[in-house]
Amino acid sequence: MSDYLIIGGGINGLLLTRELASAGADVILIDKGEFGREASWAGGGIVSPLYPWRYTPAITALASWAQAFYPQLALALIEESGIDPELQVSGLLMLAAEDAEEALRWAALNKRNMEKVDASYLSRREAGLAPGFDSALWMPDVANVRNPRLIKALVRSLDKRSNVSLKSHTELIGFCCRENRIIGSKLQSGHQETQLKANAVVICAGAWSAEVLKNLSGPLKIEPVKGQMLLFKFKQQPIASILLHGGRYLIPRRDGHMLIGSTLEYRGFDKSPTPAAKQSLLDSAYKILPMLKRHKPVAQWSGLRPAAPEGIPFIGKLEGFENLYINAGQFRNGLVLAPASARLLADELLGGTPILDPRPYRPGARTNEASSV
Ligand SMILES: Cc1cc2nc3c(=O)[nH]c(=O)nc-3n(C[C@H](O)[C@H](O)[C@H](O)COP(=O)(O)OP(=O)(O)OC[C@H]3O[C@@H](n4cnc5c(N)ncnc54)[C@H](O)[C@@H]3O)c2cc1C
Repeated sequence: MSDYLIIGGGINGLLLTRELASAGADVILIDKGEFGREASWAGGGIVSPLYPWRYTPAITALASWAQAFYPQLALALIEESGIDPELQVSGLLMLAAEDAEEALRWAALNKRNMEKVDASYLSRREAGLAPGFDSALWMPDVANVRNPRLIKALVRSLDKRSNVSLKSHTELIGFCCRENRIIGSKLQSGHQETQLKANAVVICAGAWSAEVLKNLSGPLKIEPVKGQMLLFKFKQQPIASILLHGGRYLIPRRDGHMLIGSTLEYRGFDKSPTPAAKQSLLDSAYKILPMLKRHKPVAQWSGLRPAAPEGIPFIGKLEGFENLYINAGQFRNGLVLAPASARLLADELLGGTPILDPRPYRPGARTNEASSV
C-alpha cells in the first residue's frame, strides 16, 4: 500500500508529490488527462497576485512565502530535469491604478518593493506604451514563469524518482469508505476499473475538486471560472515588463512570445475559446500597446480556474475524515501560491512545523462560507 494517493496532476498535485516524495514517502499521482494540461498550462505564470493589496492577508502570506521560494525551485528543476522553467524578473507595471495610496500602504506594511512612477519614467521604460498614461505603480521584483515548461520540468523530475508512480489518463471515479476512513479509491483508465489503497488521499483536482467530493463532504465551494488568453510572437520582444491595466495584462516571455490575458467567465465547465473573448482581449491590449494592431495573435486558449470563496484555497484535512485531504481553490493565483500551498499541506501530512498559520485555509471552518469570489 502506498503512503499517499494524490488526485490531480496540475501544479498543486505535482508540487505536493515533490514535497512528499522528497521526504521519503511513496506517492501515486493520477490525472484523468495528461499531467498539468488544465489551468496550470493555460495560466499566464505571473508570480504575483494582480493588484496584490486587494487580497486578504491569507493570500499575501502564501504568496510571500512562495515568491521567495520560486528562484530556488527553478534552479533545482533545471538541475534535476534539464528543463528551464524560464523564471524571469520582469517587474510589474500597474498602469493608472486607482487605489495607489492604499497599494503603497500595503507595500510598506508587507515590505514589498513598490513605487509610484510618472509619465517620463513610463516612456523611458516602455517606449511602445500608448500615450495618456500619467502614472503607474511599479513592482520591480515581480517575476513570471513559463508555466508549461515548469510543468514539464516537474513531471520529468518526478518521473526519475523510484518512490513516485505517475499515472496519466487515470480518473478517480469514487471512494470506498469504512466509517470515517477512505479504504479504497476507484480508478478508471480506458475501459479498465481498478481499486487502489493508500494510507491517505489528497484531492488536488483544481476546478473539479468539488465534483470529485460531491458525494462525500459538506458544501465545499470551488467553482470553475473560465479564463481566455491570446499569444503573440515577435522577433524582438517589444515590452520589458508585465503591463497591467483595467484587470488585463501583457506578459513578456524571454523568447519573444507575449501573452495577453485574461477573461473571467462563469460558464461552468465549458472551456471553448470564443471570438468575442478574442476581440475583447485585443481591444484591451491595443489600449496598452497600440503596435499590436499591426500583428496577429498566433494562438488562443482557455482554462478553468478553481475558485474558492475570496480565492483562499482549501488546504488541510476534510472534516469527518481521518485520511482525506484537499489542496485546491487557488483561483487566479494558483501558480504563484502553489509552492507554499504544497509545503503547508506537506507539513500537516508529515507532522512538520507549518511554514505559516494553517488556520485560514482549513476546510472544516469554511464549508458554510458565502460563495462570492
Ligand atoms: C487564463 C488563466 C490565467 C492564469 N494566470 C495565472 C497567473 O498569471 N498566475 C497565477 O498564479 N495563476 C494564474 N492562473 C491560475 C492558475 O493557473 C490556477 O489557479 C492553477 O493552475 C490551479 O492549479 P491546480 O493544480 O489546482 O489545477 P489544474 O491545473 O486545473 O489541475 C487539476 C488537475 O486535476 C485533474 N483532475 C480533475 N478531476 C480528476 C479526477 N476525477 N481524477 C483524476 N484527475 C482529475 C485535471 O485533469 C487537472 O489536470 C491562471 C489561470 C487561467 C485559466
